[in-house]
Amino acid sequence: MPPATPLWLLALAALPSPGGAADDDKLLAPPPLEVDGLIGVPIDILRLTGTMIFDGTTRTATATAEMIFEMTGDGGMPLFDLRQEVQRAVLDGVEIDAGSLAAHEIGPLAGTMRILEQELAAGQEHRLLLEYELDTPMSPGAKAIGWGAEGLTWDTWFSDLSPGRYLELWMPANLIYDRFAFDLRLELRGLESDHELVTNAEVEELGRHHWQLRLPPTTTAFSPMVVIVPSADVERSTSTVKVGGRSILIDLCQRLDAKGDRKKVHAQVERDLKEFSKSTGEWPHADRFSIYVWRGGRSMEYDGATTTSLGALRHEFFHSWWGRGVKPASQNDGWFDEAWDVYAADGEGPSPSRVRKPSAPVTLCSDDPYNRVTAGASYGAGSAFFARVAAEIGDKKLRQLMAEFFVAHAHRPVTTATLEQHLVVGSGRKGDEVRQLFHRYVYGKDGDLAD
Ligand SMILES: [Zn+2]
Repeated sequence: MPPATPLWLLALAALPSPGGAADDDKLLAPPPLEVDGLIGVPIDILRLTGTMIFDGTTRTATATAEMIFEMTGDGGMPLFDLRQEVQRAVLDGVEIDAGSLAAHEIGPLAGTMRILEQELAAGQEHRLLLEYELDTPMSPGAKAIGWGAEGLTWDTWFSDLSPGRYLELWMPANLIYDRFAFDLRLELRGLESDHELVTNAEVEELGRHHWQLRLPPTTTAFSPMVVIVPSADVERSTSTVKVGGRSILIDLCQRLDAKGDRKKVHAQVERDLKEFSKSTGEWPHADRFSIYVWRGGRSMEYDGATTTSLGALRHEFFHSWWGRGVKPASQNDGWFDEAWDVYAADGEGPSPSRVRKPSAPVTLCSDDPYNRVTAGASYGAGSAFFARVAAEIGDKKLRQLMAEFFVAHAHRPVTTATLEQHLVVGSGRKGDEVRQLFHRYVYGKDGDLAD
């Protein structure tokens, strides 16, 4: 029996076309990478299907993953990432030695990536099946799976501040230029107490503690949010906001120790949803915003979802437009959504006093195609960059150009060069000044462009 049409498909049908995903993705891939005497060639994942089973009796977890992909360029040895120890690997139906897809150290801003030591042809689909025990991922700042007295506490726990902190923590994945559909079957066994699943995936309940998750073909390695938490540790509530002819469900799951008034949180999200829809564009996801609120300073954005402290909620919510609606094509482009979020949502805005005088060049967008860390200056110096653009063309014009860019590129990975071109052209006679601002305060180059 064919599955019912998923909600995300209906939602996407109402939005501008995501375009020819696979072809665009290949164009955004970095060049082949030579490391340890091997040449790794970027891949284009077409579809990822996984299972994760958490067993409360043994406090162990296992996973399987099937990755269907094509090679970019002329083919070669596939380059991808997974921060778990692979026990079994099958390539195109043939068992292969798990040692033949070892991780290689690329550099401090890239961490490791795996190279599968087989030359694969371009222009055809390949299928890699992996089996492994799930354990604490081999990534900086990774967290152990949380087995506690109340049950299982686990979340995807992504970060853009260290390499190897996206989907590759748990599943084989690619750099963030690549979009692919992702299906995940998730099961908890041997756990008596009830658990909550908070996710941005479309969920089909297959049984108690047993779910089929589906993420759309616009998914990239930083998209999937999956949180599992004992029901006893949280309170959950929903509300519905009508905006732009759609009804968006606000699904709020708040840890008891976060101690916020959930009614106020719903009211804030409703206000922000209306504001951002008006200032930036239509909600670019399925008809739901999933929020997991915890204590503490660390928060993270996902496509139409967030794990967040209450203080950061507005910032993380805006990322569903900028960052996880319009998506950076590489981590070199990860500066613009942080910078614009601080400028447009956090209230930094135009600040003439901050940008009256020139300052030292700042590199927000590096030229290392394998960089996997967002520049730390993206927030402060990044928002100052936008303030400098506003000083040239006006705050109103800048916001208008950014909203136009969002509408044209929602669901697409985009590069800094594409954003630059849009702002330069849109700035008319001030275009040269805007290009010069990119030169100095985004690419970190001294001197005049004409030099
Ligand atoms: Zn942010």
